[in-house]
Amino acid sequence: MDNQGIIESLSAGDFSTAVLREALTAGGETQQAMFSLARARRHEHFPDDQVQVRSVIEISNVCRQQCLYCAIGGKSQRKNYTLDGKTIVTLVDYLYEKGRRTVLLQSGENPERSFVDDVAAAVGEIHRRHADLRIILCMGDLPEADYQMLHAAGATDYIIKFEASRESLFMACKPRDSLDNRIACIRTLARLGYRVGSGNIVGLPGQTLDDLVADLELAHELPLMMNSTTIFVPAENTPYANEPPGNPAWTLNMMALLRIMNPHRLMPTTSSLEKMMPDGQYLGLMAGANTVTIHDGTPKELHDLFPIYSAKRIRPQLEHFMDIVRRAGLNARFTP
Ligand code: SF4
Repeated sequence: MDNQGIIESLSAGDFSTAVLREALTAGGETQQAMFSLARARRHEHFPDDQVQVRSVIEISNVCRQQCLYCAIGGKSQRKNYTLDGKTIVTLVDYLYEKGRRTVLLQSGENPERSFVDDVAAAVGEIHRRHADLRIILCMGDLPEADYQMLHAAGATDYIIKFEASRESLFMACKPRDSLDNRIACIRTLARLGYRVGSGNIVGLPGQTLDDLVADLELAHELPLMMNSTTIFVPAENTPYANEPPGNPAWTLNMMALLRIMNPHRLMPTTSSLEKMMPDGQYLGLMAGANTVTIHDGTPKELHDLFPIYSAKRIRPQLEHFMDIVRRAGLNARFTP
């Protein structure tokens, strides 16, 4: 298939395996034309050209999983921490004062009764204090009753990535979980009324091009309001520390295809992309992303204790985003 053929097929909504395989590895002019199509699709569905700005608070690093790409939850974890509900509310008050209206509360997967109840109480208090603030949770697989309780307390959005759409690849990197379970969680959350975000990792050890095609198909089929894709970063102190990193160009292609296939969804440009390529987050916006996450909610002394992809994570701040959003010809939106 020639370059023009790929773009024409994607424009016409042909998302067949052959087209997606070619598109995922596209370079040069084809890649630029695909990014341009992704931006056009974004503009059609978000005509105000706004980028949603959210702040993240990493509320706990306690996790029952041991994903092979993540330094949280493994034997090397230096220290556990969990912010209590009062501290979470205080941090959200601080962010609200700074003008933030969308906050992501992120933790490892910890179904302990006391933890989930404490988060639900904090969410309820935040909702009472700041009714115009959107609360996004990222807490992993929990029982339906807990999702229900957190939603009733005021959480409206939930991020839970499927990471890999092939069961054997999923099990290789998330041996304590199962893909079926993860997908069941996504469907449950959507049924309960959450706006759900999910997606994959590009470059996992053992991943093939066909896996990425299947990831695109699964993301397209799931009841999502938000897409996300991250690039695999071989994190120190993990079993994957010596594996090669994901391909940044393919990650951008994945983002563009997620946008073209699901134009109405929010999609972040991630800090891992910034770590793996110069100006990575700007390029993510140019490939169709429309969400950024400011790392200004977690107390500084806890930063080293939440090393999802690296203890040397990039924690982008507001100035960085204002710059890349402006350069991409977009506008920052702080309202939910
Ligand atoms: S990626 Fe998430 S679920 Fe997996 S070990 Fe890290 S914190 Fe836990």
